[in-house]
Amino acid sequence: MTSSQYVIIGAGFAGAATAYHLALSGVKDITILEQEAVAGFHSSGRNAAMVRQVVSDPALAALTRGGAAFLRALPPDWPVPVGFEQNGSLLLGSGEGWEKLSRDAETARQMGVGVESWSKDKATEFVPALKGADFDGGVWCLTDGVVDIHALLTGYLKAAQARGVRVRYGCSVGGFEVEQGRVTGLSTSDGAIATETVINASGAWAVAIARLAGAVEPPLHPYRRHLFVTAPLPWVDRKWPFVWHITHDLYFRPEAAGLLVCPCDQQEMLPGDTPTDESVTELLFEKIHRHFPALTEIAIKRSWAGLRTLSDDGRFVIGWDPKIKGFFWVAGLGGHGVTTSSAVGALAAKLIRDPHSGSGEEFSPRRFLAATGR
Ligand SMILES: Cc1cc2nc3c(=O)[nH]c(=O)nc-3n(C[C@H](O)[C@H](O)[C@H](O)COP(=O)(O)OP(=O)(O)OC[C@H]3O[C@@H](n4cnc5c(N)ncnc54)[C@H](O)[C@@H]3O)c2cc1C
Repeated sequence: MTSSQYVIIGAGFAGAATAYHLALSGVKDITILEQEAVAGFHSSGRNAAMVRQVVSDPALAALTRGGAAFLRALPPDWPVPVGFEQNGSLLLGSGEGWEKLSRDAETARQMGVGVESWSKDKATEFVPALKGADFDGGVWCLTDGVVDIHALLTGYLKAAQARGVRVRYGCSVGGFEVEQGRVTGLSTSDGAIATETVINASGAWAVAIARLAGAVEPPLHPYRRHLFVTAPLPWVDRKWPFVWHITHDLYFRPEAAGLLVCPCDQQEMLPGDTPTDESVTELLFEKIHRHFPALTEIAIKRSWAGLRTLSDDGRFVIGWDPKIKGFFWVAGLGGHGVTTSSAVGALAAKLIRDPHSGSGEEFSPRRFLAATGR
């Protein structure tokens, strides 16, 4: 049997950023366990790579702002360039959705994020592919952008490893040792590990892992979402921002010589290697036809799907488990796990080191205890 003071389950953004910030705070004995042969095989390697700060929930907005600030000014000893292209974002709204988006922009402004309200004409002049689109106005955020997700994830892991963190791939957690309500170890496909602290950063598997330990079971659900990459399009300007119609849930951004497009489909799935569903292509073109008619002629070259794991109240789950001592949560990062990664890792590390800091109460898994009773 081996031992480790802290064991993190999962080498996605949640686990890697938490390991990095824990190591940065001086913790020496940390092991990340990843069931796959590589990091980022699941959600962290299958997303749209957009850094978006304008969101409705002020608690989340603090994390999106913190995460984006980290990407703009990486630490001097950061090991890998992350290719952050700060081309901005243009969020669109119509009807009541435009009023709601304007309120979200105000929340961002109050947090110190620079945003501007744009008329439909100004937005269409900036991104001509919006010609004929159905929206009332746009919110422009200059400091948003797109990041190289594989480089960013590698960066967290390398920076953590440089501070002594161990990463074990192909090592699947299958059970826990719990004595008198406290974690004392876990069993893996690669042998037993003695530990007093387990950090559940297992993404779509977070509830299954919690069940193995007898921890609280928050209402966390994995939802599949598809992304599509088009064939080359000569009229796309690589400097365009990402454009997201928030009211009708449809987005696009430059990708290679074409576009990456997403119909924001949402179907609950079991955790696993997410298969694609042909019928979502129809949904994509139906939405494009209705809301972004200038994109009607695009040809799809490839597509894939990934899981966004969301809690019923939409908030992340970060904090100590209320039932099992030594069991910590970093899960439910939904559609914001890239943007917020550094801020999430920093908050998790702070709460792990100092459980009584009073920070991050709004993300605590305790909020589900009364509701689920489990
Ligand atoms: C289509 C799509 C688009 C998205 N676009 C964006 C975007 O533009 N911007 C943004 O900020 N976010 C985006 N997201 C969200 C983002 O990808 C996620 O929030 C983030 O990747 C979640 O990271 P995670 O570490 O929690 O999960 P994961 O990346 O899934 O990592 C969890 C890891 O735990 C491992 N694991 C599970 N069980 C075990 C076990 N028993 N033993 C060992 N290891 C285990 C898994 O193998 C996995 O590698 C998008 C998501 C999707 C699906």
